[in-house]
Amino acid sequence: MKDHYGREIDYLRISVTDRCDLRCIYCMPEEGIEKQGHMSILSFEEIEEIVRAAVSLGVGKLRVTGGEPLVRKGVEKLCAALAAIDGVKELAMTTNAVRLSAMAAKLKEAGVSRLNVSLDTLKPDRYRRITRCGSLDHALQGIRAAWEQGLPVKLNCVLLGGVNDDEIESFVELTRKRPIQVRFIELMPMGEDKAGGGAFLPCSTVLERVPALRPFRPLAPEKKGVARLYALPGAAGQVGLISPLSDCFCQSCDRLRLTPDGKLKPCLHSSEEISLRGLHGEALAAAIREAVQSKPLRHPGLSQEVRSPAGRDMNQIGG
Ligand code: SAM
Ligand code: SF4
Repeated sequence: MKDHYGREIDYLRISVTDRCDLRCIYCMPEEGIEKQGHMSILSFEEIEEIVRAAVSLGVGKLRVTGGEPLVRKGVEKLCAALAAIDGVKELAMTTNAVRLSAMAAKLKEAGVSRLNVSLDTLKPDRYRRITRCGSLDHALQGIRAAWEQGLPVKLNCVLLGGVNDDEIESFVELTRKRPIQVRFIELMPMGEDKAGGGAFLPCSTVLERVPALRPFRPLAPEKKGVARLYALPGAAGQVGLISPLSDCFCQSCDRLRLTPDGKLKPCLHSSEEISLRGLHGEALAAAIREAVQSKPLRHPGLSQEVRSPAGRDMNQIGG
């Protein structure tokens, strides 16, 4: 599907729950969220019907996210059903990895082909402080379990000035021997008061702190993604920089986002949502096409001072 600006839209991110077993300072309120009742969360059958319609219109790449997707019971069954849809070329998941050691084999068997794992620090005390309750050990065990299953893992690290920026070098160092991608993400002004989430740091800070990083061009370039890639000379892995604020990548945006309660968001940073609940057949397809056509050229001037007009917190969208 081409949007109004000629961009090919072939990627759907599916947030399967707004609930999470962590409370990251930049993402969730400390006290958690009001649980959406089962009636307001899409059932697996409803999600599958929506995905089938999107795939029939040209979507080939799927990502299951949340909240934390692994807290939704039976998520591996949903993954298996989605991976089996004719036309699905790739099924990925974004997770905090806390429950991954028990789930990695099931996800692999279900057809999940790769994972993005959020990891903002390599220090146990700091991990607990940033996530307000999590155990770094559990997340690391989860990452190891994914590797044992042969699942490629990208690490997502949100840059939090004054909180974790003294670990930039350590994260980059992880790429020297391991064929992993460590991605630094600029803090986006979502949710309530983000003061506790650290100060905004542009991704250029990473290049200042590690001047040895060089632009990386893969031998078989993937479709242009959101990350600008760098690598240390001779390193096995890469460093990705994701800069939604300092260097917006809207011109290559290829995605739609499905919220847990059945709304399709044409843009992460817009309150526009198209409700898909209760639609079937041609009406469902028409609503998906409408979302594609209403994708804006770019987000509305996001900055550190201006809160995102997304209308929801990140745990209700999925990143
Ligand atoms: N719970 C899963 C996880 O943490 O990986 C999936 C959902 S989480 C909302 C998806 C991604 O959004 C994570 O990589 C997280 O770091 C990122 N995220 C959440 N709030 C953010 C914010 N305010 N700015 C930048 N990234 C954010
Ligand atoms: Fe949960 Fe992910 Fe948000 Fe952290 S970033 S609170 S793990 S949804």
